[in-house]
Amino acid sequence: MASSIYRKPPVCLIKDFEKRPSVTHLLDHPFIKGVHGKVLFLQKQLAKVLQDQKHLNPVVKTRHERMHTGRPYHVEDAEKYCLEDDLVNLEVLDEDTITHQLQKRYVDLLIYTYVGDILIALNPFQNLSIYSPQFSRLYHGVKRVSNPPHIFASADAAYQCMVTFSKDQCIVISGESGSGKTESAHLIVQHLTFLGKANNQTLREKILQVNSLVEAFGNACTAINDNSSRFGKYLEMMFTPTGAVMGARISEYLLEKSRVIKQAAGEKNFHIFYYIYAGLYHQKKLSEFRLPEEKAPRYIADETARVMHDITSKESYRRQFEAIQHCFRIIGFTDKEVHSVYRILAGILNIGNIEFAAISSQHQTDKSEVPNAEALENAASVLCISPEELQEALTSYCVVTRGETIIRTNTVDRAADVRDAMSKALYGRLFSWIVNRINTLLEPEKNICSAVNGMNVGILDIFGFENFQRNSFEQLCINIANEQIQYYFNQHVFALEQMEYQNEGIEATPVEYEDNRPLLDMFLQKPLGLLALLDEESQFPQATDQTLVDKFEDNLRCKYFWRPKGVELCFGIQHYAGKVLYDASGVLEKNRDTLPADVVVVLRTSGNKLLQQLFSIPLTKTGNLAQTRARITATSRSLPPHFSVGRVKVDTLEVIRHPEETTNMKRQTMASYFRYSLMDLLSKMVVGQPHFVRCIKPNDDREALKFSRERVLAQLRSTGILETVSIRRQGYSHRILFEEFVKRYYYLAFRAHQTPLASKESCVAILEKSRLDDWVLGKTKVFLKYYHVEQLNLLLREV
Ligand code: ATP
Ligand code: MG
Repeated sequence: MASSIYRKPPVCLIKDFEKRPSVTHLLDHPFIKGVHGKVLFLQKQLAKVLQDQKHLNPVVKTRHERMHTGRPYHVEDAEKYCLEDDLVNLEVLDEDTITHQLQKRYVDLLIYTYVGDILIALNPFQNLSIYSPQFSRLYHGVKRVSNPPHIFASADAAYQCMVTFSKDQCIVISGESGSGKTESAHLIVQHLTFLGKANNQTLREKILQVNSLVEAFGNACTAINDNSSRFGKYLEMMFTPTGAVMGARISEYLLEKSRVIKQAAGEKNFHIFYYIYAGLYHQKKLSEFRLPEEKAPRYIADETARVMHDITSKESYRRQFEAIQHCFRIIGFTDKEVHSVYRILAGILNIGNIEFAAISSQHQTDKSEVPNAEALENAASVLCISPEELQEALTSYCVVTRGETIIRTNTVDRAADVRDAMSKALYGRLFSWIVNRINTLLEPEKNICSAVNGMNVGILDIFGFENFQRNSFEQLCINIANEQIQYYFNQHVFALEQMEYQNEGIEATPVEYEDNRPLLDMFLQKPLGLLALLDEESQFPQATDQTLVDKFEDNLRCKYFWRPKGVELCFGIQHYAGKVLYDASGVLEKNRDTLPADVVVVLRTSGNKLLQQLFSIPLTKTGNLAQTRARITATSRSLPPHFSVGRVKVDTLEVIRHPEETTNMKRQTMASYFRYSLMDLLSKMVVGQPHFVRCIKPNDDREALKFSRERVLAQLRSTGILETVSIRRQGYSHRILFEEFVKRYYYLAFRAHQTPLASKESCVAILEKSRLDDWVLGKTKVFLKYYHVEQLNLLLREV
């Protein structure tokens, strides 16, 4: 390791050293103190190397030469002098060379590598000290080649593009679960807050806390990642035209609510439950929130934390609880709101403890009761609802048929399902409320917002591709979302780019890539796509998971779908990132995601304002459960005979208010919500100019410095990075209309009073005057490499 560290002195270091050739000064440089600041010995070695002009010169020369001539770098050169920062510059572009490059860089702790304007980020699985404010300064507004590749450089590029072209930007971070997307998103936000120097210190602090808060509620420990995102997040940072940050907004997608009630073996519930339980224990407040002190609540008592001691003894949970309290405060939640949030969380934990037992009598076999009344009392008390009504809503339901209302009882299993549906709904709505509240608190101030035309940089961090031993509906949704992001990447990097060359009459060798459109169609098309089939089957009360899989098999006749022999309720999908076997058991029920209307009615009567709000679709008349049932009976006379209420989605309660709407009644399923969410996300993304960060997981053991060539190669292959290198090498990442180009850069070749035509000739004059080469002109656009734009912007600043 020692030998390779000083083989590659970064250009910024060399320049600095040329200016002040002092070893002491050098040792103070962030790059030496940072990644490479492991041992003093190494620092001294590096200093020696830098002092050695014989070594120094070729490095500088080769890099500069390459920069200015665009001459591809030869592998031997790279071996001899330094590793390649941008894979596009390698002469040989085969899998081996690229993986080899990444590996060499990785063991040198150079985790970032460029492919043209795309950043590859390898998860270092250890803390590196390359993210301090010193580094933010180092990467601020400089040419990209001045420093080694870095996530700050990507954030900087997006920011500079936004300011220069007054255009929204979108940074898409993708990669498998555990590859480092969320960490990268944090670092991008950190650098953008640094760049968007808010006059308002508080706003900056608020923005920096947002991720931690949202992730405490939306992340959890999985078999792959201890801090796995269980929702998709699109964070937009809003800036004034001069680039000062003025606010932020988050959109959340598809929280994996089912985790609240059940976690796979070795996995955990959402972080916040452990934090709050441990935190309240240490504050001696468990009894105030009616949480049992002797045994951990069932929803968080997995095999490692069966007893409460396992959770409360964890110092980290307690510290995280304090951190979350701090986040709430800084962002601006009131104490009352935070208290209500805790009550709802405690309510969910208590609900999970409610048990059911069958009451068997001569006439009735499907009736259930709650044997542990204490749990019921605790849940009701902390949620400020009546325990009797809660029990009633859990153990019975109301059906309206043919103008009559009948109260039916729930079996033990059904009651347990209702209980869990209630917990999921509570958590899902609480999460959305927190996100909305953050958005209100981080909204740009009205006076700033209306005075200026804001621009934003959006950062997309979704849950990564997953392939567990058992994959269910949640993995299916997560993987389809990843499939969609991959498609977006392909569209931008391959399809649109090649189309543009063609339209503009520019010669370019076509690059083949794996188009995942057919697969995406298989999922999303109507009426015969997988999600549409799932929705159709969910409408049949008699349908089972078996009939669902049969339906898939009958209709999805393509190479991406298969049914493994001898495994019941199982189907396989060939995703872009690999084959996944899905287990269909429970999928229909998960898709229906029903919450009995009675439960909603009870929750709406809560004395807790926040809880009321979470379940309030404004009803003309509110009332307790008995009154509502009476009202339903009265209204039901005007309903068509086939209409029934009971086990249907909450929102259909509204139908009772407006019987005329019954014809439009459509149950919303998870699949339709998912489809809607994807569309919503894409509609936000397409307005911005995209920047891509591709995270790669170097090994499955989460070990630092361990590089598994097979695993890395598989990720490079499946995400099309190998093809990306080819297209980026010949490609031009900036394509600017003549008119826009002349308007922006005419100062570089013309005098202020001149008004050059928006023509090809004017563009050539500017480009030649700026001494750039290797650019191309199309029919209507100037085609530039990323470094041309950097150079032009630098020149513009000097004018
Ligand atoms: P998921 O899809 O499951 O949400 P992810 O891609 O968001 O996964 P992260 O949570 O960002 O993955 O990263 C997993 C872990 O890897 C982190 O908790 C951290 O320990 C480590 N890690 C990732 N990136 C870095 C980094 N730049 N520096 C140090 N550690 C990192
Ligand atoms: Mg994540």
